[in-house]
Order: sequence, then C-alpha cells, then structure tokens
Amino acid sequence: MEMKPTPDLERKRKQHERTKLVFKIVGPILLVAGIALFVAGAILKCTEDYFFLCFIGIPCIFFGGTFTMLGYRRETATYMKNETTPVLNEAAQDLRPSMETFADTIKGTRVCPHCGAKADPDARFCDHCGKELIRVCPKCQEKNDADATYCKNCGTKLGKEE
Ligand SMILES: [Zn+2]
Ligand SMILES: [Zn+2]
Repeated sequence: MEMKPTPDLERKRKQHERTKLVFKIVGPILLVAGIALFVAGAILKCTEDYFFLCFIGIPCIFFGGTFTMLGYRRETATYMKNETTPVLNEAAQDLRPSMETFADTIKGTRVCPHCGAKADPDARFCDHCGKELIRVCPKCQEKNDADATYCKNCGTKLGKEE
C-alpha cells in the first residue's frame, strides 16, 4: 500500500489553527469586555442593581486572559526565546573563564601554587616561574605535592630543593 498523505492530520491542524484564531479574537474581546464590565460595576456599585456587573466581569477577565494566552502562546514562546537567547549567550560568555578553570580542575590540570599559571600535569617545575610543582621522592621516585614534607608512598622525608 502506498503511503497516503494524512488529510486527517491536516484537518486537525487546520481545526486547531481555527480554534487558536477564535481564542485570539474572543480572548482579547472577552478580556476587554470583562474589564469594562468590572470597571462599570465598580463605578456603579453604589446602586445595588449594577453590582452584578462585577461578578460577570471577573470571570470574563479570567477566561479572556486564558483564551488570549492560549491563542498567542506560540507567539509568546517565540518572543521569549528570542529575548532570552542573547542573554543566555552573554551569560555563557561571562561564565566561560570560570567554567574553563572548573573543567581544568576536573581534568586534573595542575595550577602552579606559586604563581597560578597553568602547568602540565607531569611537569616538575612551573614553566612560568620556575618553582617546584611536584616533589619527586629521591628514594622511590613518587611524585608528591610541592609542599609535601614526606613522601606519600614510602614516607621518606623530602628535603627542600632550593
Ligand atoms: Zn609558577
Ligand atoms: Zn618515596
């Protein structure tokens, strides 16, 4: 069987568009009418006879607002996306240096404790300030932190290399 185009889906989509169009038209009208009724009722409320206008006005505002939101939802969503995208990009750019530092920390990139320059994980001395980054144990060749006093592998006292 040949794949049929889906007129059913197309019809549904059109129906949906029509419903949205109704919402777009009815929503604002209901909203404005509701506000008008509410204001009118509020102004005339001294006379009990008109107080009911407020009670009609409130649900009108509610449904009007809901319909308007439903009808214009996609437009609102697109607008919001367009609005927030550059903001998010800017935020990402601002965060980038700190994110890189964070990534370096995770990756295990060493930072020189003396000058803060980035250092190769295997480097023994900082290529920026020339100071010790790791202290290699003279006995077992274990790599210890630059400020280690004793070898973490064999316990040998690590002398200061000046
Ligand atoms: Zn350094
Ligand atoms: Zn050692």
